[in-house]
Amino acid sequence: MLVLSHYNACLHGCEAGEETSAHVLCECEALGSRRHAYMGSFFLEPGDIKNLNLGAICNYSKAAGLP
Ligand SMILES: [Zn+2]
Repeated sequence: MLVLSHYNACLHGCEAGEETSAHVLCECEALGSRRHAYMGSFFLEPGDIKNLNLGAICNYSKAAGLP
């Protein structure tokens, strides 16, 4: 069983989410304009990720400051 011992608030300033890859990739409001610039949409569904170009995801991840 997975135990979440602490909550990592989003580092991008949206105050609406947790700093998880799913949040940053799909739903973080603070990154909407960058998501749109790199991946063509302000918000994504998790299922959309697999349809995206891997290069676009990499470029977005760098722009968003993901490791
Ligand atoms: Zn966020």
